[in-house]
Amino acid sequence: MQYEGVLRKMFTEIGEPIQYYMEFKNDFLNVNQVLNKSVEFTFLHYECLNCHLDKPIFRQGFCQSCFFETPSAGDWIMRPELSTAHLGKEDRNLAYEKKVQLQPHIVYLANSSNVKVGVTRKSQVPTRWIDQGAHEAIEIVEVPNRYLAGITEVALKSHVADKTNWRKMLTNQIDEEDLIGWRRKLKPFIPEEALDYFIETQNETHLQFPVLQYPEKVKSLNLKKVGEYKGVLKGIKGQYFIFEDNTVFNIRGNEGLYVSLGIS
Ligand SMILES: [Zn+2]
Repeated sequence: MQYEGVLRKMFTEIGEPIQYYMEFKNDFLNVNQVLNKSVEFTFLHYECLNCHLDKPIFRQGFCQSCFFETPSAGDWIMRPELSTAHLGKEDRNLAYEKKVQLQPHIVYLANSSNVKVGVTRKSQVPTRWIDQGAHEAIEIVEVPNRYLAGITEVALKSHVADKTNWRKMLTNQIDEEDLIGWRRKLKPFIPEEALDYFIETQNETHLQFPVLQYPEKVKSLNLKKVGEYKGVLKGIKGQYFIFEDNTVFNIRGNEGLYVSLGIS
């Protein structure tokens, strides 16, 4: 089977295990069906996710000019505490920012290699946790806008990590953590403005990834540099393909690469 198209973050569906999908021009691929098969990626050219031109990808799937211009790559995406739509203040496009920022957001704890705090739109639960390769996660607060979620995350960052060790996540060197206990411990550090939105009762969510065999150590595939790669797919975790020879490929980290994908 041969597919061709621009790499984008995989779609997921919760299940036991989680189901992964890739969307190509005329095809939809359930990646779980590809486990144990031989996969060949070839880098053909770039395709910016915004302007669709063949320009080198700068960050987040965008070419450099789109990254600095498109409303969907504003600083408040990565740093939610910089959100200003709740004040009616524009960053790049107020209508867009109102639509995205002024909706329920969740501050959560997720454990993918260690416990970390993060922010997501409520509509992105549990997608966000799946994308991070978290095997367990819990909500801490549900607030009405992105700004409140951002300042809560900033306050909690002094007491819990905000980064994942992706190598540990992919080699599955993980510990079970008592996330309900963590939530209780962190409550005193939630800012006053967000305290009314604290979630007291919700339980942990556990996620099961489709991985047949975890690598002992990982080497990251730089497709842009090597041009092509072929290997047997042994698992999918977070947004990574895991191959039999310990190679891992971050699909999300390579958004905007136009590739062909052969499966045999
Ligand atoms: Zn562009």
